[in-house]
Amino acid sequence: GMDIKGTSAIVTGGASGIGAAVARQLAARGAIVVVADLQAEKGEALAAEIGGVFAQVDVTSTEQIAAAVKAAAEIAPLRSVVNSAGIGWAQRTIGRDGQLESAHDLDSFKRVVAINLVGTFDVVRQAATVMSTQEPTESGDRGAIVNLASVAAFDGQIGQASYSASKGGVVGMTLPVARDLSAAAIRLNTVAPGLIETPIYGEGPESEAFKAKLGESVLFPKRLGTPDELASMVVECLTNSYMNAETVRVDGGIRMP
Ligand code: NAD
Repeated sequence: GMDIKGTSAIVTGGASGIGAAVARQLAARGAIVVVADLQAEKGEALAAEIGGVFAQVDVTSTEQIAAAVKAAAEIAPLRSVVNSAGIGWAQRTIGRDGQLESAHDLDSFKRVVAINLVGTFDVVRQAATVMSTQEPTESGDRGAIVNLASVAAFDGQIGQASYSASKGGVVGMTLPVARDLSAAAIRLNTVAPGLIETPIYGEGPESEAFKAKLGESVLFPKRLGTPDELASMVVECLTNSYMNAETVRVDGGIRMP
């Protein structure tokens, strides 16, 4: 596998939830992590805890992504990039009232796609450009990238057009982008979480609707996943040199009707 000790990593959305768990696990393996997030206070605290660096990044800003990629590559060779920045349930203001008009609000749709899909692609694009100029590691990898999709990519819940479309796009880009990057010995995989206990749901996990959703899952285990359970799969995808172009569900077998 790819040894990441002493190399740099970028985790977008690294201040919270799955991204924060990934940042901690990468740091535990000796990587120097650039925590790239909108949230400065949480991001700086985590960076201090794990001996990393915080970078204020809105993934809809090409310039801010460029600055974070440059900062990471100046620390050490950039081997690992994880796109965990995303918005979903809590920020979703569309469709909760069941009205088609609000469910299909165009500005909301564009915003979710801009962050979850276009932002992810921009990070991949810029990080891969820098990675491609680096010497390969002993395992032959120049670097590896993991994008966070969602089981929503394969599903269709009410009010979720923007979210499912954005995550479907992340799944859809996995194979073609992995093909594009293979000549540079850069691997790309996607991890699709089920229902994970993070702040993304806001009050969601406490709500009746959320409990009903979990209850509808017919498979074991009937509980939320933990950020660490996701992060360990992300780290596996990054460091296992034979993992490429794959989308892996980590969802406890949940299937939503
Ligand atoms: P989270 O809310 O805990 O963390 C997301 C982070 O992204 C936050 O720190 C937030 O500040 C940051 N962020 C949001 N918009 C940003 C932007 N424009 N630029 C930079 N950073 C931004 O959420 P999480 O649950 O850890 O989610 C991580 C990823 O996993 C997301 O892409 C999410 O869609 C996906 N996911 C989560 C679940 C789940 O159940 N929690 C399920 C499926 C997919």
